[in-house]
Parts: sequence; C-alpha cells; structure tokens
Amino acid sequence: MDETREALEFDVLFVGGGPANLAGAIHLLNLARQKEMAIEVCLIEKAETIGAHSLSGAILDPVALQELVPDYSAKGCPIEESECRDEFYYLTRTGQFRVPFTPSYMHNDGCHIISLSKFCVWLGEMAEELGVNVFPGFAGTDVLYESDGNRIIGVRTGDKGIDKDGHKRSNFEPGVDLMAKTTVFGEGPKGSLLREVGKKLGLFEGKMPQVFETAVKEVIEIPQSSSFNSSATTVLHSFGYPLGLDTKGGGFLYKMKDNRVALGFVVGLEYEDPLLEPYQAFLNFKKHPLIADIIKGGKVLQQGAKTLSAGGFYTMPRLAVDGAVFVGDSASMLNIQRLKGVHTAMKSGMLAAEAILAALEKDDFSSATLAIYEQKVSGSWIKKELYAARNFSQALSKKGFGKFITIGAQYLSGGRGPVDPMPIEADCTALKTLVSRTASRVESPENQDLDGKLYLDKLTGLYLSGTTHEENQPCHLKIPNPDICMTECYEKFRSPCTRFCPAQVYELEEEADGSRRLKLNPSNCLHCKTCEIKDPLENIIWTCPEGGGGPKYSIL
Ligand code: SF4
Repeated sequence: MDETREALEFDVLFVGGGPANLAGAIHLLNLARQKEMAIEVCLIEKAETIGAHSLSGAILDPVALQELVPDYSAKGCPIEESECRDEFYYLTRTGQFRVPFTPSYMHNDGCHIISLSKFCVWLGEMAEELGVNVFPGFAGTDVLYESDGNRIIGVRTGDKGIDKDGHKRSNFEPGVDLMAKTTVFGEGPKGSLLREVGKKLGLFEGKMPQVFETAVKEVIEIPQSSSFNSSATTVLHSFGYPLGLDTKGGGFLYKMKDNRVALGFVVGLEYEDPLLEPYQAFLNFKKHPLIADIIKGGKVLQQGAKTLSAGGFYTMPRLAVDGAVFVGDSASMLNIQRLKGVHTAMKSGMLAAEAILAALEKDDFSSATLAIYEQKVSGSWIKKELYAARNFSQALSKKGFGKFITIGAQYLSGGRGPVDPMPIEADCTALKTLVSRTASRVESPENQDLDGKLYLDKLTGLYLSGTTHEENQPCHLKIPNPDICMTECYEKFRSPCTRFCPAQVYELEEEADGSRRLKLNPSNCLHCKTCEIKDPLENIIWTCPEGGGGPKYSIL
C-alpha cells in the first residue's frame, strides 16, 4: 500500500478547517505577501466542504476579525444580527426570573450573531483566493514523525475505499502523506490526532484534566408574528431548569436573519447521573414556556451537536513542539466565562502564523523557535482573557448555591478565587453507579409530543443535520474491550452511551435468548466526540471515518 502512496510537500500544513486555522492561513499568506515570500500552504478538512462540521453558539467578538479583515462588513462577512442585546434568566420548571444584572463578562456589546458554518465558508473562500491549497474531504489519520525522533513532519490522510472488513474496494485510493516544515493542529475539541501527539509528546503533563461540555443546537424558522421578532432583545441565556444547580449547563436563544433563531442547550460532561440524556435536557429546555412561546408555530431547519473544550487556562497544553503548533479549541482556548471561543481561536491561529513566518525566515522549525507562538499567546489578550477566567470552570462545577459564592469570589478577585488554582470537582468520565446515584434527575416531560416539525426525536434531528457516511467502511468507533459493555457498564450504569450520544449511534438490542447486545450505527455519527469523553470506562475511541463523511451543516 505504501509503495503507491503519494507524498506532497508544503511549507505549512493546517489540519482542520475551523476559524483558528482559516484565520491562521489567511494571516500567514498576507504576511508572506508583505515580505514578498513565496510559500506553499495546505489546509485539510475532514468535512465534505469547509464549514460543514462547524457549529457554534455563535456570538462573535470581532476583535480578531477586525485585525484580520478590517473591512469585514464591506467584504461580505455573513452576519446574522449585528447587535447583541442580552437577557439572562434563571428557569424553574414552569417559570423564570430575569436576572436583574448581567455580569460584565457576559455583556455582548459590540459582538455579532453569526452562523459559524457560513462564517467558515466565507473565510475558506478568502484563504483560497490568497493561494491556500484547501482540500476538504481529507481526514488526517496519522501524524508523521521524523524516523529518528519526535519531530513532526506532517500528516497522513486516511485511505479511501476500504470495506467494513478491512479489504480494498475497487475504488480504493491510498491516503496521501502531506509533508510540511510546520504542521498546525486545529482539529477542534478532542482532536483525534492531538490525542496521539499529546500522549507521545506529553503535551498535557502537569495540566489540569481537560473539561468538556456537549451542546445540541438547532436553527428554527419562527413565524413572523413571534414576539421575539419585534423584541429589542437578540440574545437570551438561561440556567437552572432542566438541570438544576448541581449539574453544569444552560440554554441560549439568539436572533438570526429571516425570522430564524438559533436555539441550543449545553451540558457539562462532569455530570454524575448515568441516566441523564443531554438530548432530553435540550428538549425539556425547548418545552419551557419562555422558549416554547417564542418558537411556537415554527419549524426546525437544521440540527447538530458538538462538544466544547471548557476547561480554560489551566487545561491548555504545551503549544509548540518540534515541527508543530496547536491552536484554538484543540489547545483549550475557549473562554467559557464569556461563552465564546471563535475570537480566541482566530487570534491563536494568527499568532501561530506570525511565529511560523519567523521560523520560515530562520529556516528553523524547532520547538525553541516555534515557542515564539507560545510567547505571543502569553503577551496577547488571549492570555489576559483566559487568565482572568482561570478558575471559572471549576467554580461553575460546584454544586448548589455554593457555586454562586465561588463564581463571585473568583470574579471579584480577578480570577483568583478562594484558592488558585481551584481544583476541578470531577473529571468528564465521572458517573455514579445506579446504586450510589444521588444526582438530581432530568425527567422527560409527561407529554413528549414530538411532532417531527418543531420537536424532533434524535433520528429526525439527525436527518436535518445532513449526516451521511460511506456505509461500507470499517467502524470508526473502536471499543477496545467489548466484553465489559454488557457486564460492567450495563450493570453499573445501564449503558450510558445510549443516552449521552445525541445521534442514536449506540443502541441496546435484545437477542432471541433474552440476552442484550450493544449495536452500533456509526453512519449516524455527528463527530461530536461526546462518547470518547464521557464513557465512564474509557472504552470508546473515536477515530476519523473516511474523509467527506459526517454532518453537512450550512446554517448552524
Ligand atoms: Fe457523538 Fe460519539 Fe455519538 Fe458520534 S458516536 S455522535 S461522536 S457521541
């Protein structure tokens, strides 16, 4: 197979087509042009098109965008709503209290509501116009290292045309070795290549365990007559119902163009109740009177899910190694206190570009030279923002009203909190066994009333995500020890994968003899990575399926 494998050489390879890498590639080409340097840059993205796997809140603080494209409005940047006017609610089961003040870090003055998928399409076109070789439909599956050391020299893309038993089909195409002087990893949260590099090179040594949240999001078309259309408010945030105060999470509703709203619900993956189902929590939030009144008579246009890296400053990995740097959500740069990460992702990509340009000028791609990137992050507003929120995730994960005391303490002390660093309460694999479970429950509403139009079951939502995969390929979800699924995992936790996966990939099937087995539907996968993060026995490994598969988001 290797004999026929093609190798292509570039100066810089960006792995992942999200905002961090797209901004980085654009900035790098702009800087190179100013210096009249000719460089070859490649960007690969596992989705069929740029933007098709991009999903975010998304309220954009345009601080990095202004630097990258000062005339972004004139250049046609797709903005859904240019002004953010916030309201912040505590929800009970049937009512709500509007929080009389919004903490300064939650103010979104000057920010815009966007669709991240549309925004990435726009950035992708700009990158291509500048000369970046943009290759969507190519998944990076292996990191390439120098034969006698740990220096990263590129990435191998996945073979295409392998059947589910591992044999070559007639359309077999071997993956390509993309060789680069510097590789930029911007795979988003829980990148599968970063997992391997992290282990091999100890990127996370001495850091706090990573923290993640899972979001389910929809874009809904609401009737012209909806009260939200005429309201001055453009942004609603909520906490409380349906999770209560012991489990981290909350909801959002943002105004978009053309009578549309973005509706989402986020659940912190440190939750302890094995019976909790993030998708159900999303439905319960959607049925709350505050939200139900706004969306009444509407129709879901698109649905999707993804995880966010919510740990912040103390969970950030080492940012530079020999031959590679790590940017955006891959490097845990989302500011969970502000519920924003697109601006920090873009800025990190741009700072990486500046460091890479210096490395190209010196013709030295060692970690010592690429560490300029790390120094630039430390000297930038990214560090300032993330450092001020360095204990926020830990404070938020406290239970009950105690969380408000710790959130207040860290806020009033400039991020320090009662102790600095504050330890995390539980890691993301935490689940209580059914016997010991005391966590509060997220119950289904008595009448689910899933009408297939506004309130959707998982499979209808999946259909609206546009997800497709080549069916005849090896399963990309690896279960190293299948024997414990129906013994330890079922007995202790009742197979929580059937609940935390938002796409019904994992199902329990009963055999004729009454025994149970776990059935996998990998073609349903939304690439959200929740299963790898939340599996209590760490028995699921998410690998990249054939390039081009997965969701086809266009307005999320
Ligand atoms: Fe997300 Fe895993 Fe389900 Fe895929 S299988 S949708 S990555 S939880």
